Amino acid sequence: MIKVENLQKSYGKLDVLKQISFQVERKEVVAIIGPSGSGKSTLLRSIANLETIDDGNIAIDGEYLVKNGQYAKQKDIQKILSKMGMVFQHFHLFPHLTVKDNLELAPKLVKKEGASVVERRRRELLEKVGLADRADAYPAKLSGGQKQRVAIARALMMNPDILMFDEPTSALDPELTGEVLNVMKDLAEEQMTMVVVTHEMGFAREVADRIIFMDKGEIVESGSPEEIFENPKTERTKTFLMRVQ
Ligand code: ADP
Ligand code: MG
Repeated sequence: MIKVENLQKSYGKLDVLKQISFQVERKEVVAIIGPSGSGKSTLLRSIANLETIDDGNIAIDGEYLVKNGQYAKQKDIQKILSKMGMVFQHFHLFPHLTVKDNLELAPKLVKKEGASVVERRRRELLEKVGLADRADAYPAKLSGGQKQRVAIARALMMNPDILMFDEPTSALDPELTGEVLNVMKDLAEEQMTMVVVTHEMGFAREVADRIIFMDKGEIVESGSPEEIFENPKTERTKTFLMRVQ
């Protein structure tokens, strides 16, 4: 579903992503871990076309967003991006819209779907994330965990094939992380293809099929949760895990 080859990006003299290559298969859950500043967000944002890369390839479901540093045509980019949903650390809900309208806006406006179809899906998805009774609330009235569950439901409204999460629980009080992680766990069980940048090692270990460890703009090591957590190959991985666990 995602193929990244020799991706390079720098901010001025700082090489943020150095020759990054990896793939994500359909239905796979990949967790990206690593210290702050290692380039995890930049990598996710590059795949979602929120950052421009300097060189390399990014292909989604077999279609190139960028090939040898050359971006596809705008029309093709839109089509490729429509396969991906993204959930951010700070939710990014529209504050002036109710939960209901946060979910319904893009399908109606961007996809030009009919009101009844959109409304039915909105009800299903709010039910799924346990917020059926908050459809008319404004984001300000919700807890952080509720806001993040709305953000996940909103991403799902576009029927993405891939869902990417950038530290979805890092802004939450510890007692609210579980409700968000449980929704993500349900999605994984339903075979959603997911890429999750996370500091939640328990979640990564339990839910991810594969772990990618990044440090200083490089993929240092990748493997199954057992390989990474029980038997890390590099000193950098060991040191990082010792600090976070
Ligand atoms: P992570 O998500 O792993 O914490 P980031 O991708 O946010 O890492 O950042 C990687 C590096 O790129 C950091 O050194 C950060 O300071 C730098 N960086 C990120 N965004 C920008 C930007 N817009 N301009 C300059 N440097 C940036
Ligand atoms: Mg980050």
